[in-house]
Amino acid sequence: MFSKLIDILGSSNAKRRARLTQWLIASMVYLGAATLLITGVGQGWMNTTALSLWLGFVFAVVVISYALLRSGWTERFRDPSVTVWQLSMGVLAVSWGYLICGPMRTSALFPIMVIFAFGAFTLRWRQITFLTVLALSSLIVAVILRTLFPHWVPARGEVPPMRLDINNVLMLVVVLPALAVVATRLSGLRRKLSEQRAALTQALLEVERLAVSDELTGIANRRSTRLMLERDVSLSSRAITPFCLAIVDIDHFKRINDELGHGAGDDVLKAFAHCVTAQLRSSDSVGRWGGEEFVVVTHGNLEGAARLMERIRHAVRTDCHATRPVAFSAGIAQHRPDESADELLARADIALYEAKRAGRDRYMVAA
Ligand code: GH3
Ligand code: MG
Ligand code: MG
Repeated sequence: MFSKLIDILGSSNAKRRARLTQWLIASMVYLGAATLLITGVGQGWMNTTALSLWLGFVFAVVVISYALLRSGWTERFRDPSVTVWQLSMGVLAVSWGYLICGPMRTSALFPIMVIFAFGAFTLRWRQITFLTVLALSSLIVAVILRTLFPHWVPARGEVPPMRLDINNVLMLVVVLPALAVVATRLSGLRRKLSEQRAALTQALLEVERLAVSDELTGIANRRSTRLMLERDVSLSSRAITPFCLAIVDIDHFKRINDELGHGAGDDVLKAFAHCVTAQLRSSDSVGRWGGEEFVVVTHGNLEGAARLMERIRHAVRTDCHATRPVAFSAGIAQHRPDESADELLARADIALYEAKRAGRDRYMVAA
């Protein structure tokens, strides 16, 4: 129903429509309150002139607000909804209503709740403070004026208590739906926030994963392999755990690309990485160093590293489901105390070169 009314009154601009929806809710509260006050006139509980002035004020506020929002004129402001202006007018209408509506004045205060609920959406504490001060001071002025000029509120006849109760309930009938709309919006906002937070966490996890893993094979990339190596070097230098490093390079990989295509070459790399990973113990690690070269770090001495190379060789031959059987050469080096990661890598690289020169499909241990 709201969106139909906005269709009639509003524009196609989504933000302007949202502002007009807010305006419409406020206008309905004004309309409900006005209806209740008008019923009071018939009973003689209210001064007709005072009420006419109030109605004129409220009507002007509603029309001016509509014109400002609909024309888009307020879009030059930081708050295009001119929330403070609209809510201040609401506060003044409440205090003014309190002044003139005689014995029914208690219920005239109810719309204050709607005003502050709206304010909770967008206002900063300064603006809320301003509204609070405005509400309290204008109410105090209303009370003083009532006392000084009692004839504005002719107390002709007694209001039956039942009529007061009914009036209170009717005022809540006006106010509560508006509060419900605000509450629904707030909970929608909260849901959106938590959805956004979940999406952000997911994106962050993905970014973290991408930052450490190699896109093609899914194992550690060069950067994170380097970090793991630096950590092992520093632990080993403090004589906590000895470890060995192997540079593993697939033999004649270029031929696979040339004969079967780059896609098949990629598949071989994935299968190879998977096969190597399957042979590692939990304390070992492997990363893609670049192209068809991998770095394996294994804790323990050279005999253990050599056994690991044999295991990998066997696995690559027997159950590495690559498009085509591959062999690899490797250079192994055990980390020496006080040796840097680069020095260790250089020694392993020389051993790899020797393995290639000696005919490939083998590993060599660095001097
Ligand atoms: P060697 O036995 O001496 O190691 O010979 P090789 O052919 O394996 O070595 P070379 O360094 O000559 O060639 C490596 C090839 O690996 C060249 C490059 O095109 C290919 N390569 C590097 N990265 C990728 C990749 O991500 N996917 C594919 N399919 N090929 C790659
Ligand atoms: Mg190679
Ligand atoms: Mg190579």
